[in-house]
Amino acid sequence: MKILLTEDAIRQRVDLLAAQMNSQYGNQPITIVGVLTGCIVLLADLIRRLEMPIRIALIQASSYRGETTTSGELRISRDFLPDLRGRDVVLIDDILDTGKTIAYLKEHLLAMNVQSVRTCVLLRKIGRQIVPFEPDYIGFEIPDEFVVGYGLDYNDEYRNLPYIGVLNQDA
Ligand code: 5GP
Ligand code: MG
Repeated sequence: MKILLTEDAIRQRVDLLAAQMNSQYGNQPITIVGVLTGCIVLLADLIRRLEMPIRIALIQASSYRGETTTSGELRISRDFLPDLRGRDVVLIDDILDTGKTIAYLKEHLLAMNVQSVRTCVLLRKIGRQIVPFEPDYIGFEIPDEFVVGYGLDYNDEYRNLPYIGVLNQDA
């Protein structure tokens, strides 16, 4: 495993993302909508640094695909998503790759008549985006390699790594 982002680098960057949100929203209540399952570690770290009143909601998005490939159709599960009408939402995902997931989910939330949506991704892969989309908050831009850790998985493993690494495909 090659370490791409250390635990310390991630912590510093999450501090900064939280500071941006704290200054942008002030005391305004927000609802964090996390995209399962990759969001969980970022979500847990981020919310403990936020100072406004917050609610948490979760949505599941998964594409039909093989293991490391990201083509395929998006499947959404709204089982953990409450009525968000009128809420100011911050949508949180682990990584923006082609952009399909985050772009689709933002439209989906807007169609639920939320008051506003901003989007936050921990990682954005350079040179992979197909759908034009600008997240409001970005942790790191990374090269086009398959990464795991800090919530990101390979076959549902490695989510618990405290750092972000590039999986050695031969291992
Ligand atoms: P997009 O819809 O932007 O193509 O893909 C976003 C989703 O693909 C992410 O939420 C994540 O689940 C998955 N994904 C894309 N690139 C990677 C990667 O390098 N590592 C992992 N573990 N998942 C990825
Ligand atoms: Mg995901």
